[in-house]
Amino acid sequence: MIEGLYLHIPFCAKRCAYCDFATEACHDDARMDAYIDGLSLAIRRASRAGLLGSIKTIYLGGGTPSYLGTRRLNSLVYLISLSINLENVEEFTVEANPDSIDERMVKDLFALGVDRFSLGAQSFDDEVLSAYGRIHDARQIERAVTCIKGRVENFSLDLICGGPGQSMQSWEDSLERALASGAKHISIYPLTLEEGTPLFAQVEAGTCAPPDEDAEADMMERAGEVLEAAGMHRYEVASYAYPGFESRHNSSYWSGVEYLGLGSGAASMLSCEDYRACIDAGLFAPDFGCDLSKGAARVRVECETDTTAFNESLGAPHVQVETLTDAQAQLEDLMLGMRKSSGVSLEQVHHAAAIVPEVSGVFTSLEERGLVAEKQGRYVPTKRGWLCGNEVYGAIWGLA
Ligand code: SF4
Repeated sequence: MIEGLYLHIPFCAKRCAYCDFATEACHDDARMDAYIDGLSLAIRRASRAGLLGSIKTIYLGGGTPSYLGTRRLNSLVYLISLSINLENVEEFTVEANPDSIDERMVKDLFALGVDRFSLGAQSFDDEVLSAYGRIHDARQIERAVTCIKGRVENFSLDLICGGPGQSMQSWEDSLERALASGAKHISIYPLTLEEGTPLFAQVEAGTCAPPDEDAEADMMERAGEVLEAAGMHRYEVASYAYPGFESRHNSSYWSGVEYLGLGSGAASMLSCEDYRACIDAGLFAPDFGCDLSKGAARVRVECETDTTAFNESLGAPHVQVETLTDAQAQLEDLMLGMRKSSGVSLEQVHHAAAIVPEVSGVFTSLEERGLVAEKQGRYVPTKRGWLCGNEVYGAIWGLA
């Protein structure tokens, strides 16, 4: 049963210095129109095949969905409202950037069923924003927030710490201003240096210092102190929210819920049955190398990232498919579950141990190393476990 729908919009006004996401700087209206046509075809096919009947959360992400402009966004969201019974949808999020959202857009999207916005703020310090290669300033973030709050209470801000020259004072100021904005949810990420990005080239050329991991760890810790003092709680390694405002869509990624991703670069996690139904519906070009007869329990699907190829595919892109056995699926659920503050139940670990006996020993060892703790019948990450998340996830997934 597919409960989450993700739609990818691979366009931005300009590529930010640190970004290696599946997106492109695009100023070609015809290209964006063709993309929306392909995506719309895919949505119609999925709806006609009955694949969207259990959708509970919808997420329009990117890239920069708001960069599509009101006309394209309205037609896409209108189509969604015709294809999915929004009465049963618990959360409908649209990502936006401060430079491309306005009052009209918020009003229209709200009228069509969108009830949550996720705004890419990244920092409230104009110098840091400029170093990140963002095309907006802090004043525009505040203006965007005012537009959103005119209609929608539930919105999230993304913040990045550890930018070139960013001081702890600047970081604390961004956290305080994010809280003062009225955001119900704040996502916090440390800056990472990705090969092929402008920032990477600057570091290679010696014109910019690489991110300092210790300083980032201090900033992440400070974020926890500031946000928790304000009443938010950290429900996932990068996510803080006031009670009741945790992202339902994002939570599905860490809870083994089936989700369908449409658009170039979008990812899906599907049962074998639903994957076959997607192929039959014409959502993905068939992957003849994928053998579902060898005891696959679940399928991971990644659509090709080339937007030109997506446009030419008329909504049925080539995909990379990975099958997971039951053991791998259970290990993946345990690994992703450890991203959440609620962790995983002892029962879930015992259940997985029935087919992967080593898993119990891995959790015992993680507990001995102070990376996880046992609380009220669950294994939950400790502060150190969150900081050294890759050790925790690697130890669990290493059994796969
Ligand atoms: S706006 Fe977001 S997706 Fe677009 S380039 Fe910047 S960080 Fe990447």
